[in-house]
Amino acid sequence: MAEAASTDFLVIGAGIVGASCAAFLQREGFSVTLVDRDEPGLGCSFGNAGNFSVGGVAPNALPGLPWRVPRMLANPLHPLHVDWRHFPAALPYFWRFLNNSRRSRVEQIVPALHAILSRVFESYEMLLGAAKMADLIRRNGKLYTYETAEAFAGDQLKYELQDRYGVRREVLDGNAAREMEPALGPSVAKAVFWPDYGWTVSPHRLTTTIVEDFVRRNGILRRDAVRGFEVGPNGPTRVLTAQGSITVDRVVIAAGIWSRELAAELGTTVSMESERGYHLSMPNPGVKFSRTVMSYDRFITITPMEEGLRVSGIGEFAGTRAKPRMELTEKVLHHARILVPGINSEGASRWMGERPSTPDSLPILGRSPRYPNVFFAFGHFGLTLGAVCGRLIGELAAGKPTTIDLKPYRADRF
Ligand SMILES: Cc1cc2nc3c(=O)[nH]c(=O)nc-3n(C[C@H](O)[C@H](O)[C@H](O)COP(=O)(O)OP(=O)(O)OC[C@H]3O[C@@H](n4cnc5c(N)ncnc54)[C@H](O)[C@@H]3O)c2cc1C
Repeated sequence: MAEAASTDFLVIGAGIVGASCAAFLQREGFSVTLVDRDEPGLGCSFGNAGNFSVGGVAPNALPGLPWRVPRMLANPLHPLHVDWRHFPAALPYFWRFLNNSRRSRVEQIVPALHAILSRVFESYEMLLGAAKMADLIRRNGKLYTYETAEAFAGDQLKYELQDRYGVRREVLDGNAAREMEPALGPSVAKAVFWPDYGWTVSPHRLTTTIVEDFVRRNGILRRDAVRGFEVGPNGPTRVLTAQGSITVDRVVIAAGIWSRELAAELGTTVSMESERGYHLSMPNPGVKFSRTVMSYDRFITITPMEEGLRVSGIGEFAGTRAKPRMELTEKVLHHARILVPGINSEGASRWMGERPSTPDSLPILGRSPRYPNVFFAFGHFGLTLGAVCGRLIGELAAGKPTTIDLKPYRADRF
C-alpha cells in the first residue's frame, strides 16, 4: 500500500489503552490514526476478568511476598508458573519486583496507584457518556473470598493501605458472603466486600464501542502491523508497516506487552514482562453471579459476562514467544469447582492473554525520555486504567496541566 496521509498522532495498538488514547486525543482536536495488526480489542483487552478494582492501592509486590514464592512454585495447584527457559531473560524483572516489595518502595508506590485509580470511573464516563457507561459497566462492587481465618489475617497490610485512602469495605462471614452470592460453596469462610468497585459485562465490547465512536468522529482506523520507525534527530518521522509507511508528527505506543520492543526501537528500555493469564468462558454455567468474585486462596476471578460466566486466573512467566499452555485452564477449573460446586463448564471456550506487567504495578505513562514526539501508554491494570491513561495522554499532548502528576509513571524510573 502507498504511504498513508500524514496524521497529527499515530496511536499503535487498538486495545483498551490505545483506543482510549485515540479517543481522548481526538477530543483535544488532533487528527488521529489508530493502527493495529488485528481487529480492535482482540489482544489482552479481550479476555481479562473485567474488574475495575479502583481501591487496589496495594501493589503486587508487598513485603514478605518474595519469601512465599518458593512455596508457591512448589505447589502444583498454585497459579504462579515460571518457564525456567525464560527465567534468565526475566531475571532483571524479578529482581526489580523483589526490590519493589521493600516497605520504603511500597510507601512511594501506594500514593501513585491511588492517584491514578481515583480517576477511573469519571474517565470512562467522559468517554462513554452515561447511557453507554450504564450498559457496559456495573458498579455494584466486588467480593473477595477467604477460606481460612489465617489467610484473611495474613492479608491485613492490604487493608491498612486501603484505610489510608478511605476505601470502603465490609467484612463478611461465609454465610453472609453466600447470601450475597448463593452459588459460592461451603469453602468460603470469610469475605471482604468492596462496594465501590466495578466490572464490565464485556471487555471486548467496551473497547470496540470506544473505537466505533472514534471512527464515527472521523478518526482513522488502519489494520496494519508496525515493523519499525524512521527516526530523525528529533524523533520518529515515519512509521514503517507491513503495508507501507505512515508519515507522523507524533506517536503513541499503546501496544500492551508488545510496547516493550517498540519502545526499545525508539531508544527506551522498560521493565515489563508478559504475565500470561487464562480464562474459561462458560455458556451454560448452571449458576448465577450478580457481581465479580475473586478468591484469595485460589487466585481465580469469576465474572458474569454477557458472553458467559468467565473464570480467569494463572500468572505464567514464559515470554511472548512461548505457545499457550491451555492445559493450565484445567487448574483454573479445578479451583472454580471447589469455590463454586455447582459450576458447569460444558462447552466452555478457553483463552490465553498476555498481561503487560511492570515490577512496581504502575503503568508506564507519559512522554518518552528520548524523543519529545513519542508518548508511552502501557503496562499494568490496563482495563482499569485504559480511560484514565487516554485522558492523561490527551492532556499532555494538548499542553494542558495533567489531572494528576505523571512523574511516578515515567519510563526511565527503572
Ligand atoms: C486473565 C487476565 C485477567 C485480567 N483481568 C484484569 C482485570 O480484571 N482488570 C484489569 O484492569 N486488568 C486485567 N487484566 C489486564 C488487562 O487485560 C490488560 O492490562 C489490558 O488489556 C492491556 O490493554 P492494552 O490495550 O495495553 O493491550 P492489548 O489489549 O494487548 O492491546 C495491544 C494491541 O496492540 C496491538 N499490537 C501489538 N503490536 C503491534 C504492532 N507491532 N503493530 C500493530 N499493532 C500491534 C495488538 O494487536 C493489540 O491489539 C487481565 C489480564 C489477564 C490476562
